[in-house]
Amino acid sequence: MSKPHAMSPSHEVANAIWRPYCQMKTAPDPLEIVSAQDFHLQTADGRQLIDGMASWWSVCHGYAHPHVIEAVTKQLERLPHVMFGGITHEPAERLASRIVAMLPAELKHVFFADSGSVAVEAAMKMAMGYWRRRGRPERCRFLSFDNAYHGDTTGAMSLCDPERSMHASYGNAILSQIHAPLPTHPGNEETLREILDRHHHEIAGIFLEPLVQGAGGMRFHDAATVRQIRLLCDEYEVLMITDEIATGFGRTGSMFAIDTCQIVPDIICLGKALTAGTMTMAVTVATSEVFNAFWSDSADDAFMHGPTFMANPLACAAANASMDLFESEPQVQRAREMDPKLLAGLESSRQIPGVVDVRSRGAIGVVQVEALTELETLRRQFIDAGVWLRPFGDCIYVTPPLNLPDALIEQMCSAIVDVMSAREFSSPELTISG
Ligand code: PMP
Repeated sequence: MSKPHAMSPSHEVANAIWRPYCQMKTAPDPLEIVSAQDFHLQTADGRQLIDGMASWWSVCHGYAHPHVIEAVTKQLERLPHVMFGGITHEPAERLASRIVAMLPAELKHVFFADSGSVAVEAAMKMAMGYWRRRGRPERCRFLSFDNAYHGDTTGAMSLCDPERSMHASYGNAILSQIHAPLPTHPGNEETLREILDRHHHEIAGIFLEPLVQGAGGMRFHDAATVRQIRLLCDEYEVLMITDEIATGFGRTGSMFAIDTCQIVPDIICLGKALTAGTMTMAVTVATSEVFNAFWSDSADDAFMHGPTFMANPLACAAANASMDLFESEPQVQRAREMDPKLLAGLESSRQIPGVVDVRSRGAIGVVQVEALTELETLRRQFIDAGVWLRPFGDCIYVTPPLNLPDALIEQMCSAIVDVMSAREFSSPELTISG
C-alpha cells in the first residue's frame, strides 16, 4: 500500500501536467503562450509566431475573431451550459439544422459529441447498433485503412493503423479490426475486394479519412478512390463512415472532402474547426436509414450515449458564429487558392538533401523527408524563425488558418525552407557492426 503523504521525487512535483504525445522524461519544456490574435501566437518571452498549425487544424478563421467572441460572450451571460438529456436549447437546434443543410440531403440526424474521438466512438456504436437492430449482430467489426488515424480513445485506436500508428504498442489489448491497403487508384482495389469477400459478413462499416490521411503521414489520395470505396460499400452492403474531423470545414478546398468526391456516406464525423478553434465539440451525423433502425416503441432500441457536455451552448454559439463566417466570407475559396501558394512557397525545399516530396491540398502543405532527426532542435529552430510547427513522423507540414494572408503564407514558407536548408534529412546509413 502506498503511503499517503510520502515525499514525491522532484520530477513528480515538477510534472503536475502529463503532456500529450511526449516522453515526459526527455521532452524539453513546452512553449508558454499567453495570448493569440488573428494568425499569431504570443509567447511568454515576448515573441510573436505565425501559427502554421491553426491549433491542430481547428482555428479556421484565425484567433480571437470578433464575431465569434461576441457570440460566445453573449451565450456565456445567458446560458453557458445545461445538460442535454431531456432538454434542448436554441443554439443546438440552430446548429443542427445548419449542419444538416450544409451536408448532402441524406445526412439528416446530428448527434453531438464532446470531442472528435467520441464522435468516432458514437459512429462505431451507431453502425454496430444499426446491424443488431436489423438482425445481423455478427456485423460488429470495422474495416479501416493502412496509415489511418481516427483518434485516441480505445475504440478509435482500434481503427488506426495497427503497426505504424502511435497506438501500435497496445497490440492486441484493443479491439481487433480489419485493415486493408487504401486502393491508390480505381482498378487496383483487388486486395480490398479480397478482404471484403472474406470478411463482409462481420463488417459493420468502413472508416475512411477522405482525401487526406492526417496523423498517419499527411497522405493524399484522390476523389476516384473515395468513390470506389463507396461503390464497394454498396456492393458488400457495409456502411461507409467518413471521418472528416480534420478535413471538414474547408480544409481541403471544398467545404467537406465528400463534396469534392461527390459521395454520400452513411455516417460522417466532424470536429476540430467546427467551433472555429474555441471549444471542444464534434458531431456524428447519420442518414435516416441508420437513424430509423433505432426508431421503435421499445426503449431498448434507443441510442444509449450522452456525454455530460454534449451540445454545450457555448460551443454551439461558437459553431453558429463560425457558420456565419463561412457564409459571409470566402473562406473555402481562400483555402482552395492557398493550395498553389503553399506549393510554390515550399517548392524550393525539394533541393534539400533527404526531401522526398513536396505536396499541397487546399490549406495543407507538406514537405516529406527521408528522416526527421533531432526533432526538438528543429522545432526550436522554427520558433526562432518565427513560426509554430509540429513536424512528426517524416513530415514537416502546415495547416494554417484558412484566411492566412498571402504575405504571411510567404513568410511562413520561407522560414520553413530557410530552416530546412541548413540541415540534411537523409536516412542515416545502415552500419553493420561485429
Ligand atoms: N479523427 C481524425 C481524422 C483526427 O485528425 C482526429 C484529431 N486528432 C480525431 C479523429 C480525434 O479528434 P479529437 O482529438 O478531437 O478527439
